[in-house]
Amino acid sequence: AKQKSRGTISLYQPEMDQQIRDRRVLHQDLSKAIKNGELSLAFQPQGIAGKTVADSEIIGFEALARWAHPVRGQVSPAEFIPIAEESGLIVEMGEWILRQVCREAASWPKPLQVAVNLSPAQFLHGDVVGLVHSILLETGLAPGRLELEITEGVLIEDFDRGLALLRRLKALGVRISMDDFGSGYSSLSYLQAFPFDKIKIDRAFIVNLGRNPQSAAIVRAVIDLGHGLEMSIIAEGVETIDQLAFLAKEGCDGVQGYLLGKPLPIGHYAGLIGRAGAD
Ligand code: C2E
Ligand code: CA
Ligand code: CA
Ligand code: CA
Repeated sequence: AKQKSRGTISLYQPEMDQQIRDRRVLHQDLSKAIKNGELSLAFQPQGIAGKTVADSEIIGFEALARWAHPVRGQVSPAEFIPIAEESGLIVEMGEWILRQVCREAASWPKPLQVAVNLSPAQFLHGDVVGLVHSILLETGLAPGRLELEITEGVLIEDFDRGLALLRRLKALGVRISMDDFGSGYSSLSYLQAFPFDKIKIDRAFIVNLGRNPQSAAIVRAVIDLGHGLEMSIIAEGVETIDQLAFLAKEGCDGVQGYLLGKPLPIGHYAGLIGRAGAD
């Protein structure tokens, strides 16, 4: 099948029937996944941008959902999150994810930060403020250690509601980052209107650093812009030492990507979180 991207109009193709059936089955399986213990979390380190990997101190992790399907094996979140989103399952799943993440981070010997993705449906249709508040109380995680990553999709749908929710979340003491910055419409007025603490520069710009001068110019400009708005900047998808060195030189605050570490079960990072005996 042809790769479809957001906003692309595609003509009817016979294999679409199959795709729709696939999605339906996947949705049924997904609705049982939590109960069956098939969901888990991978954690990817986030560091301060230094000239070398050794200079880039790890200060936290992003939690990423993983689904081990009993027959298909690992299903990518790029596939199952949209299904969960469209069916409303994301509200229950997102609650499970947030609780697991906060519980996990609260157990770390070092008070590192943890970032979690919130999907638009979760943000706009559930009581996200009440949920975050009660999970923080329940797990004892200090609010300042939790960061919520949202995409602009959340804000496009309902500007006033989005703004009110962000303000109430920030009043709890958690931080908000704008994920995938530059990948969609990301208008500059959003940065002015919404109280983000952090901007995550989309991987697409990082991949092209060193390949085309436009990407370097954009990354530089986003760093300046963010700093001018008193936001911190993190680059995602950092895979090479050249990308890291460029970002450090340009004053990017944070880095995340395979170079520092892949998303893996937290046991893999036992040493970083200060827990004895890595698995
Ligand atoms: P995202 O939030 O932009 O997450 C970053 C994605 O980039 C992750 O893909 C991560 O594994 C991948 N990545 C990180 N570093 C590198 C790198 O150096 N190179 C390359 N090529 N890729 C890198 P993943 O885990 O497959 O997740 C895909 C998307 O699914 C996420 O994009 C996010 O939008 C969504 N997602 C994942 N977990 C959750 C979740 O718990 N809740 C929600 N609502 N969405 C989630
Ligand atoms: Ca993210
Ligand atoms: Ca991202
Ligand atoms: Ca993304």
